[in-house]
Amino acid sequence: MMQKLDEEKRILAKGYAVFSKDSKFEAFDFTRHPVGDRDILIEILYAGICHSDIHSARSEWSKGIYPMVPGHEIVGRVIAIGKNVKKFKVGDYAGVGCMVNSCGECEACKESKEQFCQNGKTIFTYNCRDCFHDNEPTYGGYSNNIVVSEKFAINVPNDAPLEVVAPLLCAGITTYSPLKFSKVKAGDKVAVAGFGGLGSMAVKYAIKMGAEVSVFARNEGKKEIAKRMGVERFYTTTDGVHERFDMIISTIPTSYDVNAYVNLLKFGGEMAIVGLPPSENSPQIDSMNLVLHGGRKVYGSLIGGIKETQEMLDFSLKHKIYPEVEIIGARAEEIDLVYEKLTSGKASFRYVIDMQTL
Ligand code: NDP
Ligand code: ZN
Repeated sequence: MMQKLDEEKRILAKGYAVFSKDSKFEAFDFTRHPVGDRDILIEILYAGICHSDIHSARSEWSKGIYPMVPGHEIVGRVIAIGKNVKKFKVGDYAGVGCMVNSCGECEACKESKEQFCQNGKTIFTYNCRDCFHDNEPTYGGYSNNIVVSEKFAINVPNDAPLEVVAPLLCAGITTYSPLKFSKVKAGDKVAVAGFGGLGSMAVKYAIKMGAEVSVFARNEGKKEIAKRMGVERFYTTTDGVHERFDMIISTIPTSYDVNAYVNLLKFGGEMAIVGLPPSENSPQIDSMNLVLHGGRKVYGSLIGGIKETQEMLDFSLKHKIYPEVEIIGARAEEIDLVYEKLTSGKASFRYVIDMQTL
């Protein structure tokens, strides 16, 4: 599908949206801003389903912007480029994660930590007002195309396995980044709490970095697959655990006691929180507990910058570190069913929508 490029022309798009926090998915036709001089137009081939899509669609963090087309694990083919684009040519593959633009001028943007734009201009891929385009809402990857600033598109080689590359754009970078930040190295003991889309990627990266990895899940359902991945110990509770960790990464999306994990850190250990339960259940750090267990660090981590996302993708492709995926068709009922599985303990790991079936 080649779309004729007219600088003034809005791009016709179609996909699936929720129309309120309680609604199911429905087909939705919309338009995207024209392809600017430094923008590219991508025909979306695969879109991963992240648990953040569910939190957002259901207004679990803050009130969503509806209609909402979620999806920030996007991979596809470049079908048009603006006249000043340098990173891509038509026919290349490109990935888009959680952001599509930022100010580009502040300290954070200059360091390629665009997710922390100091001018508050990080434009998230969906459910966000785009201040660079008249504050129109952004629409995500459960759709046939996307227009994005080339700076925010990731180069994907022509021979990459696209269906497993898609989830790397969020699940991959969100776990790779804190493991790097905490400088995980061979022999370190790493615990991964929550063994879903993100958790399974954290396990794979940590093992590749030489760590000895333990998993905390809420039942034994995925114990065998964890063992096959190389996980040493599989826990279903923090109670009575004697092991102590250099690093813990929590990907848990539900209410839980974060202090129980802090207590499992070694002296000098670090805990990265990436899971974001609904605001009303947001885990609370007990400062008395933190002080009494001093010498441990707890920090939050938000995806990763664009430079690091490209590094993560290159690293994953080089070492063939890919998510466990199930491909679904681009049908509203199938997306609804995945949301149901991901919120009722019936899910496997990552679900990826084959957008070519739209
Ligand atoms: P998934 O639903 O794929 O995985 C979550 C896993 O956590 C599931 O395996 C689930 O088990 C398990 N789990 C749930 N509750 C508990 C518990 N109390 N103890 C142990 N394990 C538990 O979600 P994702 O991996 O896609 O996302 C995880 C979280 O990370 C979400 O909150 C998401 O919004 C957030 N996120 C944050 C990002 C960031 O930049 N910081 C980026 C992307 C996502 P079960 O199978 O039994 O349900
Ligand atoms: Zn995500």
